[in-house]
Amino acid sequence: MISDRVEVAIIGGGPGGLTLAQGLKKNGINVAVFEKDRARADYVQGFRLRIRQRGIDSLIANLPTDPYEAFVATLGQAPDRNILLNENFETLGEDAWGGNALGEADDTHIEKSVSRITLRQVLLSGLDDVVHYGKVFSRYEEQPDGSVTAHFEDGSSIHADVLVGADGARSRVRQQLVPHARSFDTGVRRLAGKMTLHAAALHQISPLLLDYNAGVRPTEGHGLMVTSHRVNVEAYHRYGLIGLDDDTHKDIAGFHFNNTTSYVWWNTAYEKDELATDDALAKLSGSELLDLLMSKIGHWHPELLNLIRYTDPSTVAMLHVHSSEPVEPWPTKQVTLLGDAIHAMTYFRALGGNSAIYDAGLLVPELMAAKRGDKPLLEALSDYEAKMLEHGAKAVRSSLTAMQKNVLSGRRRQNEAAE
Ligand SMILES: Cc1cc2nc3c(=O)[nH]c(=O)nc-3n(C[C@H](O)[C@H](O)[C@H](O)COP(=O)(O)OP(=O)(O)OC[C@H]3O[C@@H](n4cnc5c(N)ncnc54)[C@H](O)[C@@H]3O)c2cc1C
Repeated sequence: MISDRVEVAIIGGGPGGLTLAQGLKKNGINVAVFEKDRARADYVQGFRLRIRQRGIDSLIANLPTDPYEAFVATLGQAPDRNILLNENFETLGEDAWGGNALGEADDTHIEKSVSRITLRQVLLSGLDDVVHYGKVFSRYEEQPDGSVTAHFEDGSSIHADVLVGADGARSRVRQQLVPHARSFDTGVRRLAGKMTLHAAALHQISPLLLDYNAGVRPTEGHGLMVTSHRVNVEAYHRYGLIGLDDDTHKDIAGFHFNNTTSYVWWNTAYEKDELATDDALAKLSGSELLDLLMSKIGHWHPELLNLIRYTDPSTVAMLHVHSSEPVEPWPTKQVTLLGDAIHAMTYFRALGGNSAIYDAGLLVPELMAAKRGDKPLLEALSDYEAKMLEHGAKAVRSSLTAMQKNVLSGRRRQNEAAE
């Protein structure tokens, strides 16, 4: 039973919205989450998220002890060594992971990855009375007393002192609150796929592709990133976090949504129309996408091609990569935003999910300060928005630069080869 008034109403039960709900509940703030889908089975949900220190810090602060321990015990292990190869499978360089080689100061956990399914299970724990499914937010209305009413497509509504839009890149809350904020198609198309480590052993995939984070940098054309995600199945049993026991995934065929399978996976990125037009790509099955990729890289070394050839086609799809434009602060209201809803970014620096979780960690103490009467609510929200916009814009820039470097260097090599 949903009461008709809460202190904080959150739209969206993704990593950001659920971390916020955990933190507010832990600190005695009356919160409700309104999520449109009971099951989360979009394609990327079958992959892992690389987790960074900023994400971990926020989870430590906001989760109760038991779910945090479950999160740590079920983290996937990625290799902690990097290797750079060319298309002939020759080593161009190797480095043991040594701190901040990739950029931001908190990028110190290259080996930590979390199944999105597991992260969702952990973040939902203890929130049965907080998360309400099947609630599609449509619009909000500001009330004369400063409170906000959120309306849902089923005709229901909720009154809240604060409304938080954590409703992802296509946020309806943002469209109403900051209609001039824009996201854009970067023109980059990303293709990825997975193979279980069991299958990798059967197909004798090289240890260089299993025990390292391998970057393939060909003399011509676009590269390939390869890494793996190893899970401790015993820990999954201990904490009861088996994805396939979950109604959300149990009827979906293939291993894509199985969070207890260790796998190796790869991704590559091309520019729009390089592989085929978007319309043509959208019609291709996983195995047709693999064939298309093979037609581009068929001259690569067999050790590399085996990884693509034996990839499970049910785990392959093409994604359009989007980013957002920086936005100036707006007059603060009792409606605010977090995560992809305001700073969606490319996947290239593994920052989007971590930033959403981090935003939650910034907002909780501000809302607590307001509740204690240490500062007025609007001042607390404004302080949150200033910090969130600053770090969010930095992350968006970093991930866009990394994408441009990665994809444009492929184009440069292509042009050089053609000259
Ligand atoms: C290919 C790829 C790889 C990535 N890899 C990484 C990585 O390694 N590390 C990392 O940190 N990030 C990564 N990201 C980014 C990460 O997935 C996102 O930044 C993160 O999911 C954002 O979390 P969020 O909670 O803000 O929004 P979302 O995860 O988008 O959640 C929004 C929620 O709101 C709900 N919702 C939407 N509209 C409504 C509505 N009208 N009413 C009610 N509910 C609604 C949705 O159903 C959803 O549950 C990657 C992204 C991609 C595409």
